[in-house]
Amino acid sequence: MSAVSEPNIASSSRVVRHPGHGESFTEHMISMEWTEGEGWSEGRMTPLQNLSVHPGMIGLHYGQVAYEGLKAHRRVDGSMGVWRPYDHAARFQRSCRRLAMPELPVETFVAAIDQLINADEGSLSDNPAHSIYVRPIMFGTDTSLMLRPSRTYRFLVMAFVAGGFFGDDVESVSVFASHEYSRAFPGGTGDVKVAANYAPSFLAQRQAEAADCQQVLWLDAAERRYLEEMGGMNLFLVRGQGAQAQVVTPKLTGTLLPGVTRTTILTLAERLGYTAVEERISLDQWRTECDAGLMSEAFACGTAAVVTPISTVVDRGSTWTVGDGKPGPVTLALRTALTDLHHGLAPDPDSWLH
Ligand code: PMP
Repeated sequence: MSAVSEPNIASSSRVVRHPGHGESFTEHMISMEWTEGEGWSEGRMTPLQNLSVHPGMIGLHYGQVAYEGLKAHRRVDGSMGVWRPYDHAARFQRSCRRLAMPELPVETFVAAIDQLINADEGSLSDNPAHSIYVRPIMFGTDTSLMLRPSRTYRFLVMAFVAGGFFGDDVESVSVFASHEYSRAFPGGTGDVKVAANYAPSFLAQRQAEAADCQQVLWLDAAERRYLEEMGGMNLFLVRGQGAQAQVVTPKLTGTLLPGVTRTTILTLAERLGYTAVEERISLDQWRTECDAGLMSEAFACGTAAVVTPISTVVDRGSTWTVGDGKPGPVTLALRTALTDLHHGLAPDPDSWLH
């Protein structure tokens, strides 16, 4: 049997179908290599194709893999805009540093994304609910099973056409509080975006699905008491109503990911006249405030989820509803403010759209 893999060129048709999040890849990819002493090679764009790697590659065995996820949107004038690429580049540098990997210069990261989007933007229809999700990734490529950082790395950028993460028609989602597993712990890697954070969450995600929930709600590892985030998105709660509403999100403790959407929402909340609060809040307090009618909305946010209302919470076998279980006005106002910026429909004083 031949050990050489055949190139697997992705379909070159204008992809408008979304078989599932992360499956409808665009035509090209960008590759670069890093070698100790020499630094980064020039970037190359090629058709998206299989990799040929040695079975003893460090990244494969020891998880020396960091990645990012960001989106490019079609603006109303037809041009493309990449959402906050410099912030994603900075987080990617932090993730790589945490895994003892080389940092990619921010400008190189952004230029690689620009090149891929310029080549593949034709894959995106003008349906405003669709976007191009860009996935940069870096991994250690040394052929060695020594437990040490790799001395060679590969950086790739690929992309796929994304619809809604939960499907195009989802109204709201339910979350399952995991009391059995933890996602992150102090001194660990919960505040960076590394592959090793995700596989250990799959079993909890299965439990969530078995309880008819779409997402795991992670609690702090020490006491399993405080709200942290979801498997791939941050959490927001809304306290109070109307112009007096407080938009509340768990404080960054080092064990949850500082989402780019999370910071955006904190800024947009203030711009819309609400109060934005970062707070250490327990699951029990959330429930108590919901029962008392003080909190009537909650939502998940992230690059993939955008802003998705949360309707129900399953906690140790009991289920409770947030507000009336329908998407609330504060959530919807924030979602519109965000998607208007994505599509160049609102003033963008911070030049978030690149
Ligand atoms: N938390 C986790 C664990 C994630 O994987 C993501 C997705 N990157 C987020 C939150 C949301 O982050 P962002 O808004 O930067 O996509």
